[in-house]
Amino acid sequence: MTIDLKGKVVLITGASSGFGEDAARLFAAHGASVVLAARRIERMQAEVERIQASGGEAMATPVDVTNRADIENMVKSVLENYGQIDILFNNAGFGRMDWLEALDPARDIHTQIAVNLTGLIEVTHAVLPYMLQRNNGHIINMSSVAGWLAAPTFSIYAATKFGVRGFTDALRREVAHRGIQVSGIYPGPAATEFSEHTGKSNIKKGFKLPGGITMTSEYVARQVLKTAKHPRRAVILPWWFAPIIWFDGAFPTITDWIQTSVSKKYHN
Ligand code: NDP
Repeated sequence: MTIDLKGKVVLITGASSGFGEDAARLFAAHGASVVLAARRIERMQAEVERIQASGGEAMATPVDVTNRADIENMVKSVLENYGQIDILFNNAGFGRMDWLEALDPARDIHTQIAVNLTGLIEVTHAVLPYMLQRNNGHIINMSSVAGWLAAPTFSIYAATKFGVRGFTDALRREVAHRGIQVSGIYPGPAATEFSEHTGKSNIKKGFKLPGGITMTSEYVARQVLKTAKHPRRAVILPWWFAPIIWFDGAFPTITDWIQTSVSKKYHN
């Protein structure tokens, strides 16, 4: 069964750039009323104007997902304007990749956990009661391939994204019988502003991804839209990360050996 997005109210966090911004445009093009939420309000306002100019329905609301009062104001503003939330796309996040001892405790450790994991949980906690009231809704959580595969310099990022996966799976099993779907999105590398915030570790400088491996932001956003139309438990992108994830689970000693040799080369 395909879910018709026309008239659905979609709340997207992290909608000022990358996957969130592209998803906002795509959801609006499919007839949904879209609420863009993030800290950079001018960026979102510009996207809202583009959506409205092409006949779509959208609004922007400022939120720092590490701030509970902001989250509550965001939810209040969506309900005042549209009366309900049908789809929550929990997408806000960032990554700081470096050797653990090189990470700054406040900016790189606490804030990364506060945005990627605690923020996502708190936004869900604030929205869920309104979905439960209607026995209807879909929560789509942005994790990462790093929510399955833990690589050197990804210690905190992987901790947050493994956390998102655990939260997603547990919540799905809690609320499925109340008519609420919960999906996890697990992308590999994609071209967004994400890489501008990841830091300058020597592994990043020395270790280049093979050409052609990086997805476009629009491609990932299209898969999110597809997930909203056909809810799935987990969406791994691109598909060929699925056998790699399986391999890691089946033969962790081999993955340890490969990844340790990378660390030996760059961790000095
Ligand atoms: P971008 O940097 O383009 O987007 C990140 C978004 O998160 C921005 O809209 C930013 O908005 C928002 N954000 C960051 N901090 C906060 C905060 N405290 N409160 C509210 N919003 C915040 O990167 P992507 O589009 O790539 O990232 C989106 C998600 O996808 C993230 O969760 C990321 O971990 C995940 N991901 C990305 C991959 C990639 O390779 N690009 C791969 C796998 C997963 P603002 O600064 O305006 O607040």
